[in-house]
Amino acid sequence: MYTEELIRQTNAYRIISGEKSRGTLSHAYLIVCPDGEYLREYLKIFAKLIMCENGDGCGECRPCRLIEKEAYADCTFYPQSGSKILTADIDDLIPQTYIRPLENKTRLFVLSGAENMAAAPQNKLLKTLEEPPANVCILMGATSDYSLLPTIKSRVKKIDVPPFSETALYGALSRELGESEKLRRAVGISGGKLGAALAAYGNGATEKTAALCKKIIKEMKSSKDVAKFIGYIDKDNISDFISVMKNEIMDMLKAAVSSGTGDCDGYKVGALLAIEDVLSEKERALAFNANVQMAADGILFSIVEEKFRWQKL
Ligand SMILES: [Zn+2]
Repeated sequence: MYTEELIRQTNAYRIISGEKSRGTLSHAYLIVCPDGEYLREYLKIFAKLIMCENGDGCGECRPCRLIEKEAYADCTFYPQSGSKILTADIDDLIPQTYIRPLENKTRLFVLSGAENMAAAPQNKLLKTLEEPPANVCILMGATSDYSLLPTIKSRVKKIDVPPFSETALYGALSRELGESEKLRRAVGISGGKLGAALAAYGNGATEKTAALCKKIIKEMKSSKDVAKFIGYIDKDNISDFISVMKNEIMDMLKAAVSSGTGDCDGYKVGALLAIEDVLSEKERALAFNANVQMAADGILFSIVEEKFRWQKL
């Protein structure tokens, strides 16, 4: 499964794996991972690692198999229902920390989506984190740690799981979905998040946007064409347009450099770099509420102007 392949490559996995083999597991971890959609899946993989009888999250032993189904008696997942950890979840957790593990050496509590925890359940959990009963391990996962109380943060070992590299993400996904241009494009605009890559892969809109970008790159002959092509751009999803266009330009840049001619479809390396700069600049400007129409105009003008300017140099 790609989630497992991706997580096993992370520094976080290496750290916890090392601590387990040395017998120095912390009593509480906070995994900070921006990929919220898959956070609980990722935590499950860490849970298997911590609880596995064969050491390294083998997937075969009883704890590994049962944790996969969130059905192992010594490992409880929260929230038990819904998407938010509530006071009721913590009320369920605390008394269980005093019960010795039934089978395992460790009793593990997994809390997913900790960034959404209100102050009340956080405060309730605090005492357990301050004086953890023996054999208890608490594994918290959050998309960010901003909303967590400093008192919580100071009592957990924080480990970041940053966005995956494009190479890692494409490698893991292509083993299951097959190699394709479509997948490469989806990964290219995902920002290193598995959820975003899969959404883009399954989303026809990305394919349409990519086709439009190719058409713009190929067919715009002069600045007069800007008026025509600007109408095709979906202004409500301008950031998607920009990320797909960036991806196309990067591909052309790679092709231009590797061909040895310094040119791809009439675009020189210098032109592609200049267009890439404009795309990044507009992306930043839009984050600060720049005018969408003007940003789109600016991008199209830069594409046609840089193309011909560099041809004449
Ligand atoms: Zn195992």
